[in-house]
Parts: sequence; structure tokens; C-alpha cells
Amino acid sequence: MEPLRLSVDRERCAGAGMCALTAPEVFDQDDEEGLVVLLHPAPPPQHRAAARMAAGLCPAGAIALNSPDPTDS
Ligand code: SF4
Repeated sequence: MEPLRLSVDRERCAGAGMCALTAPEVFDQDDEEGLVVLLHPAPPPQHRAAARMAAGLCPAGAIALNSPDPTDS
């Protein structure tokens, strides 16, 4: 199966919390500012669908999905 790598941009994050609601195993929010905290940069297979959905729902576009390029080491 394709590996999935995630990254988050806390500068863009608006603290809306959609990610933590949608994929609580993968995303959290910090207590002070409510900004996204990435718990799993490479989520296990059972959490990938939720992680992808969360990326699509993020109103700030702060979650990036990428699969590593196999030729890039
Ligand atoms: S859904 Fe987007 S804007 Fe909202 S907390 Fe998550 S990363 Fe931040």
C-alpha cells in the first residue's frame, strides 16, 4: 500500500479543530492556542482514510499530504 506522509503548517492553521475531530488519532490541538499538533506524520493504514479526509476538510489548507517519492532518498 502507498505510504502516506503528512505535514502541517501551524502558521496557516486557524485552530478550527476539524482535523482533530475527524482524525483524532492523527491530529490534536495544543492547549494554549488550539493550533494543530501532528501526532502521526506517517499514519498507520487504519488511520489514513481519516487523515486524508481531515486534510480535505481543513478550512485553512494547513494539512499537506504527500507520498514519498521512491526515487528520492
Ligand atoms: S482543521 Fe486545519 S485549521 Fe483546523 S485545527 Fe486542523 S489544521 Fe488547523
